[in-house]
Amino acid sequence: PTTISLAGVAKRYRGTTALDGVDLSFGPGITGLLGPNGAGKTTLLRIAATVLAPDAGDVRLLGRTLRSTEALHDVRCRLGYLPQEMGFPRTFTGFGFVDYMAVLKEWTQRAPRHDEVRRVLALVDLDGLATKRVRTLSGGQRRRLALAQALLGEPSLLLLDEPTTGVDPEQRVALRQVLSRAGERSTVLLSTHQTEDVEALCDRVVVLDRGRVRFDGAVTDLVATA
Ligand code: ADP
Ligand code: ADP
Repeated sequence: PTTISLAGVAKRYRGTTALDGVDLSFGPGITGLLGPNGAGKTTLLRIAATVLAPDAGDVRLLGRTLRSTEALHDVRCRLGYLPQEMGFPRTFTGFGFVDYMAVLKEWTQRAPRHDEVRRVLALVDLDGLATKRVRTLSGGQRRRLALAQALLGEPSLLLLDEPTTGVDPEQRVALRQVLSRAGERSTVLLSTHQTEDVEALCDRVVVLDRGRVRFDGAVTDLVATA
């Protein structure tokens, strides 16, 4: 089933064309988003995460057109987004930050909220550091904390902007397992420069260049044409 559908999606920032009429649809599984800096990857992820509206084109997420605040709210509660740069309230502890994000997502499900926070912190191997303040964590630890909040509630849509940047190799291998499991039930879009992550995780890759889709297919075919 299609869970993300972009039709004729375009976005400009003053003089710069970031997306130039993109038609793409995605369903469950992991799609890698590749392309040089400035290709439009972050813009595409921000539009799919509903933090940016396109100038033109149609966006459908989980079957909804986002034309009402009710639809937007519903979709936002069912998506996880790891932005390229996550801003943290610096006085928060890791636990406090993820818990705060769970409150914003109106956690009302099955397990008590704090259990869910502990679950996602354990997934990124931060349960031992959860009581430390965010400002005392390393860059890689903060990246994992940012990923933890995206995993809250096992979202149907998981939009990840370079999730493993700054994460050390050992932790990166561990995170691959977490992402691989997420891809079994969710639609995961993963922008990355790590070719090992793409080869290990992605069924499909989309290559963007100057706001257009240059390749869309299986990883093996991309390797063959490279
Ligand atoms: P990528 O993630 O592939 O590096 P982006 O989506 O970040 O690409 O950027 C696409 C283009 O849009 C680039 O030329 C970039 O400089 C430009 N751009 C992105 N965000 C802004 C912004 N807030 N203001 C102006 N230009 C921007
Ligand atoms: P209406 O005309 O019914 O108010 P809009 O198309 O203006 O509907 O959308 C309602 C709200 O949803 C507005 O705040 C708009 O900016 C926002 N919105 C619509 N599409 C998106 C999107 N893809 N990403 C983020 N916000 C969106």
